[in-house]
Amino acid sequence: MGISLEKMGALLKRSEAVGNEIAVQLCKVDDEVVFGRECEGTYTRVVMLKTFFKCEKGKFVGTVHTHLHPLKYLSPDDFGHLATMIKEGIKPYIECVVWREDGKAEVMCLESQATPEDFKKEMEEVKEDNRKIEIAKGLSRGSVRSVFPEFDALIRLSNKKLVRAWKITKGE
Ligand SMILES: [Zn+2]
Repeated sequence: MGISLEKMGALLKRSEAVGNEIAVQLCKVDDEVVFGRECEGTYTRVVMLKTFFKCEKGKFVGTVHTHLHPLKYLSPDDFGHLATMIKEGIKPYIECVVWREDGKAEVMCLESQATPEDFKKEMEEVKEDNRKIEIAKGLSRGSVRSVFPEFDALIRLSNKKLVRAWKITKGE
């Protein structure tokens, strides 16, 4: 991808020093992905505004943000963010989270190649599925699956290899 684990580890160290989550833009400049602007949140979350989806230099291709709280991997909010990016037509979109586990920096990234149309199609099918499940169970609303239909749509996109995930661990 072009972004070194060392750079993500350094971002995590700075985030730990200030005690807040930090998000940084990933910008593609001359075929290379580099860190762009940053924004700082609180200990438990960092909000990325729409203005954050544009790089000063190069093409906006994603974000990296830190997790300081004990939650590992990506949070439901992070998956929601990925869904938003796909709907906004940002393709490819890379979303990485870096956190510390057993003293080591760990990174998990999701990369999406899905278009807004792909997402819309999966959402329609998920809603249809949920409707069938609800009818079958005699539920009106409120099953876990219907609360997170976007998550189901992302799983469907990953089955079609339009969203893929990878994890890296720093050995120090
Ligand atoms: Zn997060």
